[in-house]
Order: sequence, then structure tokens, then C-alpha cells
Amino acid sequence: MNIREMDIPWLECSSTNYPIIICPECAFEYSHIKEAGTIFGEDEEEAEVYPGTKIIGHTDWRRSALSIVFDGECGHRWELRIQQHKGINLVKIKILSH
Ligand SMILES: [Zn+2]
Repeated sequence: MNIREMDIPWLECSSTNYPIIICPECAFEYSHIKEAGTIFGEDEEEAEVYPGTKIIGHTDWRRSALSIVFDGECGHRWELRIQQHKGINLVKIKILSH
């Protein structure tokens, strides 16, 4: 299944041929990256701080995650999180302010 066939409420295909991240709450297109960093995992041997980032939170997952926080021009704030888990990377969206 390609990305155009998937129903991803925070991703839209733009006229530039690049997918763009849209607000997961209201689908507004315009947003700004506010912060990026490591969400530190709970396993002392497996968790790591990703080079070039600092710890901005903690997770109860074993391994760390990479977090990118967006401020939408719509007024919503959300996080795109890439969570390392058993050799795969889960992509998750969390709305931080409504
Ligand atoms: Zn919004």
C-alpha cells in the first residue's frame, strides 16, 4: 500500500510531490517545528540519547524515541514521535494542546 492509499490524518500529499505534515486535529497545513529531542527509554543498557539532541522527556518503553514538536498556525500543538522497538521504528502522533 502506498502512502496515498493510507488514511493518515496528519499527512497529506502536496502539490510539491513531497508529503507534508498537517495538523492531526484540524488538518491545517501551516506549522512550525518548535522542538526536537530524545525521549529517553527506561532500559539503562538499551536507551540512548540521540546525537545532536538533548533529553526532553522520558518513556516507559525500553528504548529511546525521537520527538519533534510542531506548533500549528491553527493554534494546535502536536508531537511526531519515532519510537525504536525491537528493530522497527513506530511512528506516532500525539496532540499536545487543543
Ligand atoms: Zn490544528
